[in-house]
Amino acid sequence: MQTMGFACTSADEPLAPFTFDRRAARDNDLVVEILYSGVCHSDLHQARNDWGWSTYPMVPGHEIVGQVIEVGSAVKKYKVGDKVGIGCMVDSCLHCDQCLTGEEQLCRKGNTQTYNSPDRITGENTFGGYAKHIVVREEFAVRVPDTLDLSRVAPLLCAGITTYAPLRTYNVGPGSRVGVVGMGGLGHMAIKLAIGLGADVTVISRSPAKEEDARELGATHFLLSTDQDALAAAASSFDLIVDTVPVEHGIDDYTPLLDINGTICLVGQVGPVSSYNNVNLLMGRRSISASMIGGIRQTQEMMDFCGRMGILPECETIRMHEINEAFDRLERADVHYRFVIDMASLQVASAA
Ligand code: NAP
Ligand code: ZN
Repeated sequence: MQTMGFACTSADEPLAPFTFDRRAARDNDLVVEILYSGVCHSDLHQARNDWGWSTYPMVPGHEIVGQVIEVGSAVKKYKVGDKVGIGCMVDSCLHCDQCLTGEEQLCRKGNTQTYNSPDRITGENTFGGYAKHIVVREEFAVRVPDTLDLSRVAPLLCAGITTYAPLRTYNVGPGSRVGVVGMGGLGHMAIKLAIGLGADVTVISRSPAKEEDARELGATHFLLSTDQDALAAAASSFDLIVDTVPVEHGIDDYTPLLDINGTICLVGQVGPVSSYNNVNLLMGRRSISASMIGGIRQTQEMMDFCGRMGILPECETIRMHEINEAFDRLERADVHYRFVIDMASLQVASAA
């Protein structure tokens, strides 16, 4: 089917209107009209080829919420009219040990990403959520609870699951002491989700202006990452630190903040860590780990958890043609705390 969206044609070009074909729906596919699309910092990294594997034209977007408008003949779980979410993956082998335990993001044959990734059957590049429609196999959609405000759900599909997964991996619950480094899209979801799970949360940020918001979101403590005295006073006080900083950085200021057996989980920067001192690890049997998004089963668990707890991101709704300005603001960390594109604006933007 023909649809339209916004694409970039090279790392240096702004996003612009783009008309393209979605693959014809297969038996196990849903055709989804996209209502809202979140703007993840990964979209910016990919659009600008920060990771070196971008292909163009690229339609970014992997925080997608929409309505099913057509179902293939073999679809079992969904019907026309259902509200669904689609995150960073649209396919995987579905047969390996990882897929069978619901960890499709770790598929032994590699998962198919929502954009900038070859389709498993046609080999054509996938296009993401900055568009009017998407075609996705039903196994990669999650159901959105009726209780949640649709205009704020999209960021749960990446920022939500990416921070929920390590909180669950490290058994965060009542009494856990969690630090969150970087209060942006992922960071503010980590705060909300950890508090929802019963943890005591500290925000570790380089931006003093965010302290008030951090406390409003329920964080009990705020550590300015440039204040060495405050960092020293907080030594050995966390079970888990979730680090969401999007650029290369060292972690030696953070590892001493972990208690014995504590873990710092890097979910932000994709690439080298500029420094870490092994002494900080061995003195407290501390660990460094990393985590990538989460499986579909856990994404549904997170979505249902947010539905029960009324957890939603703080969003700034934008129109599609405001995306380039939004990217610039995201780069400056000037967003409170996630941009969400209202896709109803797309027609107008394209016609303009
Ligand atoms: P974001 O909204 O831009 O937030 C990042 C936050 O990190 C900023 O608000 C800022 O918080 C801090 N920060 C920004 N620039 C910094 C710098 N130069 N030095 C130190 N701190 C800085 O980004 P996001 O959407 O949350 O994404 C964060 C990262 O996660 C990106 O690199 C993205 O690609 C990655 N990501 C990974 C996964 C995964 O599966 N692991 C999934 C999604 C995204 P303060 O002002 O509070 O310091
Ligand atoms: Zn993302």
